[in-house]
Amino acid sequence: MAMEPDEKYLCKRILERFLRYVRTETTSDRHSAEIPSTSCQWDLLHLLERELKDLGLDMVELTDKGYLIARLESNITEGNTPPAIGFIAHVDTSQDAPGKNVNPKVIENYDLKPIALEGGQRLDPQEFSDLKNYRGETIITSDGNTLLGADDKAGIAEIITALEWLKGHTSINHGPVEVIFTPDEETGKGLEAFPLNKLKSKYCYTIDGGGLGIIESECFFAYKVEVNFKGISYHLGEARGKLVNAVSMAGCFVNMLPRSESPEATDGKFGYYCPIEIKGDMETAYTEIYLRDFKLPEIERRIETIKNIASTVESLYPGGKVELNFKKQYSNMKAILDTVPEVISNLEQAVEKAGLKPEHKSIRGGTDGARLSEMGIPTPNVFNGGYNYHSRLEWASLFAMGKASRTIINLIQIWAEKADTA
Ligand SMILES: [Zn+2]
Repeated sequence: MAMEPDEKYLCKRILERFLRYVRTETTSDRHSAEIPSTSCQWDLLHLLERELKDLGLDMVELTDKGYLIARLESNITEGNTPPAIGFIAHVDTSQDAPGKNVNPKVIENYDLKPIALEGGQRLDPQEFSDLKNYRGETIITSDGNTLLGADDKAGIAEIITALEWLKGHTSINHGPVEVIFTPDEETGKGLEAFPLNKLKSKYCYTIDGGGLGIIESECFFAYKVEVNFKGISYHLGEARGKLVNAVSMAGCFVNMLPRSESPEATDGKFGYYCPIEIKGDMETAYTEIYLRDFKLPEIERRIETIKNIASTVESLYPGGKVELNFKKQYSNMKAILDTVPEVISNLEQAVEKAGLKPEHKSIRGGTDGARLSEMGIPTPNVFNGGYNYHSRLEWASLFAMGKASRTIINLIQIWAEKADTA
C-alpha cells in the first residue's frame, strides 16, 4: 500500500534537525592520519546516535572509527522480502571554509532579491541562478562568516526524517533499511576503515549534493602518477656535457602535458591531466599528476602518453632518469551501476513520484559512493537541496530538502512494491 507523506510536516522536522546539526562543528582535517580526523566530529556522531536510538530503530551502532550504522528491519511477514537498502550521508564539513560557530539564517517566503551576508557578501540570483527556482520558499544561509554545512547535514536531516515518518506509518510495507553516517568524506579517507561486514545493504544511495531532482550515477576514473626525476649535479662553472639538471627535466615534462586537456580547459565529459605538485633540485625532482576521464580507454591513452613523455625527457636529457609510479584512485561507478539497472530506475521513479523531473549529471570527481560501488555495493548519489558547497555562500532550499526526504520514502516503498510483484 502506498501513502503520500505530508511534505509540509517533513519540512518542519527537517528544518528543526538541520539547524541543530549545522550548529555542531564537524570540520575535518585532510592532514590528520586519524579516523575521524578531528575529535569534534564525535559530538555530532554522539548526538545522532542518541536521536537514532530515540527513534526506536532495531539496531544502532557507533564504531570506534566513527561510523554510525542503524537498521530498521523489514515489516513484511508474507511473500518476498525486498533487498536491504542503505542511505549514506557524511557528518564532516570541508576545511576549505570555516565551520565553527555556524549561525544559520532562515529566510521565509523568499522574494528573489539578493541576500546580504556579513563581510559585504551577497547571494544574488543573477549570479546564482538556482535561487530563482525558489520564489516564496524558505532559503537557509550562514551569516557569511562560515560555510552552512548543508554538505552534508542536509542529507542527514533528510534521512532521519524519512525514517521517523516510516516508523510513524506502520501500515507502509518496507524491507530492511539502513542508515550509514560516515566521518571524513571531505578528506577522501572516509571509507578507509569502513566496516563493510556490518552492512546488510545490497544497494546504497548517498544523499550528498546537487540541486532539485539531480541523480549522479557517473564519476571519473582516477589515476595519479608519481614522477621521479634523477639528474647528475655538477659545478656550474664546469658543467658543460656533465650536468643533468633534474629541475629542467621536471619543467620539461610538465610543459609537455597537453594544455587543451587540463581542468581549466575542459568540462562536461572531457577528461584531463593535472600536475598538482612539483618540487626538487638539480639532483632529484618530483611531480605528481592526476589523470581523469569518464572512459577507461581514455585513461589508458593518457597513461601511454605519460610513458612517452617520460622517454622523450630521458632522450632530451642524456644520463637523466625518469621513473613513473601509477596509482589507481577510484573508478567510474557507472559500469557497476549498469549491471543492476533497477538501482537507478527505482531512483528515477522515486524522484518522479516526488513531483520532480529526474536530471542526470556526471560528477567531475569521485564520491564515497564510487568507493562503495567498487567494494560491491552499487551506490549512486541523490540530490540533498544544498548549493555552493565548501564556501561562505553555501545555501539550502527547504523545499528541495523536503523533496529529497520524500524521494527517500518513495524509494523504500518502490523497492518493497517491486519485491512484492517479483
Ligand atoms: Zn558532501
